[in-house]
Amino acid sequence: MNAEKAFRRYLQKIAGKPRFKKKHAQTVKLYFPKNNPKDLEIERHRIKLPTLGWVRLKEKGYLPIQETVSSCTIEQKANRFYVSVLFSSISGKKQKEWKAKRVSDGIGIDLGIKDFAITSQGQVFGNINKTSIIKRTEKRLKRVQRALSRQYEFKKKRGGKPATKNGSNIAKNILRIQKLHQRLARMRDAYRAWVVSVIAKTKPAFITIERLNVQGMKKNRHLSKSISDQGFYDFKRKLGNACRKMGIELREVAMFYPSSKLCSQCGIKKVKLSLSDRVFSCEHCGQNIDRDHNAAINLMQARKYVLLT
Ligand SMILES: [Zn+2]
Repeated sequence: MNAEKAFRRYLQKIAGKPRFKKKHAQTVKLYFPKNNPKDLEIERHRIKLPTLGWVRLKEKGYLPIQETVSSCTIEQKANRFYVSVLFSSISGKKQKEWKAKRVSDGIGIDLGIKDFAITSQGQVFGNINKTSIIKRTEKRLKRVQRALSRQYEFKKKRGGKPATKNGSNIAKNILRIQKLHQRLARMRDAYRAWVVSVIAKTKPAFITIERLNVQGMKKNRHLSKSISDQGFYDFKRKLGNACRKMGIELREVAMFYPSSKLCSQCGIKKVKLSLSDRVFSCEHCGQNIDRDHNAAINLMQARKYVLLT
């Protein structure tokens, strides 16, 4: 199914040519369809997998007991096993309730590197990658990566082949690295989920975001890591899901919309604006406002947009 999807996207010119994955660099995944009614039964603390039988869960009361599961995927990431289940449920009733209880009109969200997101109401969500907990974990990751690299170098000196038949000490360090990567990914993911929930809880009529040229921005090698660490694509996906669930209109403004160059008060376009100007000051009406806050208000006021929900 994955190969079919990859080729379809390739032939429709949405994505590049499918590549074979490196065996050592991927998570192991197993897909189980539900072939007979007794498969994939779920209890509070365990799940019945085809062939394997009952498997105990670590996180209890988490999987949907009352729903009928149609398939599941088992995944191994850094010596832990994860199960994802697919089921369908009817939640049309909830949507109508949400639609009636709208509070604020609409908001614009400006995404960036200095701060992760700024809303047009002036709410600022900082960049989690600048916090000490992330920096400490990244530092630890670097240290273990260096240790592993030294082990490989030492092995090469003794005449062993670099990445074949790893000893137990090398395997230990590989696992340490995998665990740290996982930890970082989970912290970033949880932060994005939190930002989405805070924004969605204000129940706006619509949310406007900018279409970002992430591929283009990554070409700047000084910024490439900090951009990919933000996970803008995942944020947009999470925001889209939340909006669909709560009946909020999600608007996307085109890439070339000059959101940071316009004055949010009088609408005059500023020609000269460098990235170092953190404060937007308008010569026409005399407005002084934070650069990203100004951009967020412009996004909210944008008239040309594509609907994503
Ligand atoms: Zn102005």
